[in-house]
Amino acid sequence: MLRKCIILLFLMCCSACPMQTGQTSLLAKDNKKIYKSSVCKPKKSFPQMIMIPFFDMATQIVPSCQVYPKYKTSLAMMVFYQHWVYYFGDDDNSVKNMLHNVMVEWGSRKKTIVGAYDIYGVSITSPVIVGLVKSKNMIWVWRGYDYKIANSSLTHELVHLALRAKNGHGDSDHEGTRYKGWTNQHTEMIIKIKNVLLSFNI
Ligand SMILES: [Zn+2]
Repeated sequence: MLRKCIILLFLMCCSACPMQTGQTSLLAKDNKKIYKSSVCKPKKSFPQMIMIPFFDMATQIVPSCQVYPKYKTSLAMMVFYQHWVYYFGDDDNSVKNMLHNVMVEWGSRKKTIVGAYDIYGVSITSPVIVGLVKSKNMIWVWRGYDYKIANSSLTHELVHLALRAKNGHGDSDHEGTRYKGWTNQHTEMIIKIKNVLLSFNI
């Protein structure tokens, strides 16, 4: 079923692409052998690092095989990209390249950090966080409620990385005015993607 969904999504991506000159397909050219051998092993120790299929060098670090099966993460990233191109375009392929090199570290517990900004740019001290950008290619993401990617901050953190790929910084204060990049369109897109992921039950 999930594979059918991936194929459907691929076709949706293709139909959205021809308007953009120079745009190539999102997916890696073929389902490499390493994708087949890189699987979660429930009896081995955790965390484990696993290749994310259809994205050249993308990987995820998982605390258990439940968080998350690699095809679910892959599908969530495809949905992300399809929406990103629809909303903002990606003529220089910088967001696509980011996705092909991303490392997603999944966490089973939320974290507390020194400080952060909320979605409106208001500074908060010692917040409990559900996601974090660790470098230009790496994000940490709490698994989310009910073991659903839709209920995690994966999309939110990918927006930070996409903005960083486009503008050189991830706009840590979101819709606030301290840094530029994140708009209410980005926040709206995140909600749309969440609903799509819920409809896929992932
Ligand atoms: Zn954020």
